Amino acid sequence: MKLFGTMKINSKGHLEIGGCDSVDLVEKFKTPLYVIDEDLVRSNCRLFMNNFTLEGIETEVIYASKAFLNLAICKVLEEEGLSIDVVSGGELYTVLKAGFPKEKIHMHGNNKSKEELAMAVENEIGRIIIDNRQEIELLETVSKKYKKKVNVLLRVNPGIEAHTHEYIQTSKHDSKFGESIFSDDIYSIVNKLKESEYINLKGFHCHIGSQILDEEPFYFAAEIMLDFINKVKNNCDFITQELNLGGGFGVFYSNGDDPINLSSCLKKMLNIINEKTKELNIITPKIMIEPGRAITANAGITLYEIGGVKKTYSGKKYVFVDGGMTDNPRTALYGAKYSGYIANKMNHEPVEDATIGGKCCESGDIIIKNIKLPLVDAGDIMAVFTTGAYNYSMSSNYNKLLRPAVVFVKDGNAKLTVKRQTYEDLINNDIPYYQ
Ligand SMILES: *Cc1c(COP(=O)(O)O)cnc(C)c1O
Repeated sequence: MKLFGTMKINSKGHLEIGGCDSVDLVEKFKTPLYVIDEDLVRSNCRLFMNNFTLEGIETEVIYASKAFLNLAICKVLEEEGLSIDVVSGGELYTVLKAGFPKEKIHMHGNNKSKEELAMAVENEIGRIIIDNRQEIELLETVSKKYKKKVNVLLRVNPGIEAHTHEYIQTSKHDSKFGESIFSDDIYSIVNKLKESEYINLKGFHCHIGSQILDEEPFYFAAEIMLDFINKVKNNCDFITQELNLGGGFGVFYSNGDDPINLSSCLKKMLNIINEKTKELNIITPKIMIEPGRAITANAGITLYEIGGVKKTYSGKKYVFVDGGMTDNPRTALYGAKYSGYIANKMNHEPVEDATIGGKCCESGDIIIKNIKLPLVDAGDIMAVFTTGAYNYSMSSNYNKLLRPAVVFVKDGNAKLTVKRQTYEDLINNDIPYYQ
């Protein structure tokens, strides 16, 4: 059993997190419930802030808010000194409403609308990451209107694709994100940006994948990007001030996942960058990274009430929980694997295989396929681990299920940070046919 952060098994044999008994949390806040271990979020932030440093290199750690975003997390991130990236007007709105420092907001997106760009320019956020040639003109129109020169990075595709333990250097450059560093066009795009009256090009961005469990691709990407920066210097006479290497640091979900040792990897990344810039004789740019999952995933759990158990005609055992693909679509979407336990029976021996099914009208509505559990009864509490990233942010109202509440737990206190939806919320935007 792998417990994270402040999790432990208390004297009642219950799962405890942030000093709170999960059975008490369920009694107070009902189910399904997202629980976030605030201390673990903070210590993950510090892991990045304290280790992504090297004398002589300026660094910035930017949280990728699409992993998990609400008003409360923005405050925690601000206190820990991180910046935030957003990919839509909605994410930007949330971060601005949280009162987050504007200059520490970075905006991504492969298809930003004029309105989204206007919102970013008007609010004078820190950086806009331009995705493609077309976006340059759109952004120029907007920044001209506001008479503001905007700081941008250009997103490029270094031709590396990494997932879990594999990475490939692709010859096919068919990603929908960024402009390829191998395209003949790339230097003319840089020149266009360089000459723009309303755009201040600071440097480049790349992001090579997600849930990466191997450190090599990060080093490889850094070197390829520095080679590219050197070519830009020679071809465009442009000095790169900033290099953003994206996120993608993988986490433990279930047996077999062996995450990178982050503290050594982050330091090594900077050492490699330091050496490579000396070798190329280029000025070391400011280096940014954008972890999302690695900050929040392990800090989150989802608590469900088990409604019933069903043995199918073929002998397969289902344990049904009172949520499903609506609060965690990752299993249905791409076969994600999770660990889970019966929160009120943590000391019971696992005895049989079960599949954790949700309550949505889809056969694919599965949270965990094949997990060993103790004997379970209706009313037991199922805890699914590592749901702090890409769960709440990907949740839906399919079947008109209510989006769960989110509580932050710390030192025995539970702070409600998102209310559970109500039935009324479900029809809030509906307009009756006859009125
Ligand atoms: C999704 C994303 C991230 C964060 O990825 P994680 O796997 O959650 O670390 C960072 N940068 C960009 C551009 C992204 O799209």
